[in-house]
Amino acid sequence: MSMSRTYLDYNATSPLLPEAREAMVGALDATGNPSSVHGEGRTARKVVEDAREKVAALVGAKAKNIVFTSGATEANAWALSRKWDMIFLPKIEHDSVLASARLSGADIAEIDADTTGQARIEQIGERLLTSTATAGRQLVTLQIANNETGVVQPVTETADFCKEHGLALHIDAVQGAGRTNIEFDLLGAETMAISSHKLGGPMGVGALVLKDGLEISPLIVGGGQEKRRRAGTENVAGIAGFGAAAEIALNNLGNMVRLRQLRDRLEHALLSTTPSAQIIGTDGPRLANTTCVALKGQSAEILLIKFDLAGIAVSSGSACSSGKVGASHVLTAMGISSELSRSAIRISLGWNTSAVDIDTFVGVWSEIMAGGARAVA
Ligand code: PMP
Repeated sequence: MSMSRTYLDYNATSPLLPEAREAMVGALDATGNPSSVHGEGRTARKVVEDAREKVAALVGAKAKNIVFTSGATEANAWALSRKWDMIFLPKIEHDSVLASARLSGADIAEIDADTTGQARIEQIGERLLTSTATAGRQLVTLQIANNETGVVQPVTETADFCKEHGLALHIDAVQGAGRTNIEFDLLGAETMAISSHKLGGPMGVGALVLKDGLEISPLIVGGGQEKRRRAGTENVAGIAGFGAAAEIALNNLGNMVRLRQLRDRLEHALLSTTPSAQIIGTDGPRLANTTCVALKGQSAEILLIKFDLAGIAVSSGSACSSGKVGASHVLTAMGISSELSRSAIRISLGWNTSAVDIDTFVGVWSEIMAGGARAVA
């Protein structure tokens, strides 16, 4: 018996778009290594290069400056490992950015968040006054939008500041790509990480986008793939799926209006059922698809299990490592108490979310808040 499920965890990963699946199946059925000069190899090469064009178009970059990677974690690791003397590191960044920055050996200048969930980028200027790092070897890293709260970060202002002060900028665009308009070349940033699976492509593929003319040493060495910038036989099917998803995501950017309406309807219903619930991040700009809701006295882990048993997939706002549930570093940086943070759940919408999904969620939420929820058969 199949159980009908409601999937509302697009910030963790998006269901595969049918177009991405089709492109992947086509690529899987073809034989040929993109580095081979024979016909089969040239066919595989064309699949990769067509996808590169589509990914470039999505983010306003040139195709030759897109380097495919195994995902955004690798792209972030690569960008942050490039021999920086000093890294300006917002506390709300994704773990892959935080951990790579700390591993890099650079001095770290932590940047706080304000209560709206935005990085306090004015602190970069303050920290710069006391920095002795070499000009040109200082990196600011900033995400386009936060994965837990959906809060959109001041990327344009930061890019302008970096230009003015000769700082390099790395952007983690994972949650923004396909959800906001991105013009990488106009921003003038050094590098940018993107991931296929948040926008309807497959998991395990992403890209590092490079500033025009930037020559970058590889993180992974060996073969001459990706113009000697990233060794290893390309994930041709994954790249094909990424390209197809990028094309759809670009064409469908206008659908964010629909998702925003659904999300607002969801929040309105939650607050009218449960007036003590708090939606996090509503004082600043937010992605259209994300709701982070906290409710004092509840445990996010228990809520997740109840929703899961009722057929709904949502996510916890807290980070969980080695079985120990801790308060989310993002919510903590916003000044939210660990008690409230431990109750936060994240609901995130995407291309296949319907009004029925929202109504289903709201119905189960009401039952849980009233003291129980049935498990679906
Ligand atoms: N940055 C952000 C903001 C993310 O949300 C994620 C995925 N959770 C990543 C980086 C890592 O991306 P990937 O899964 O492609 O390694």
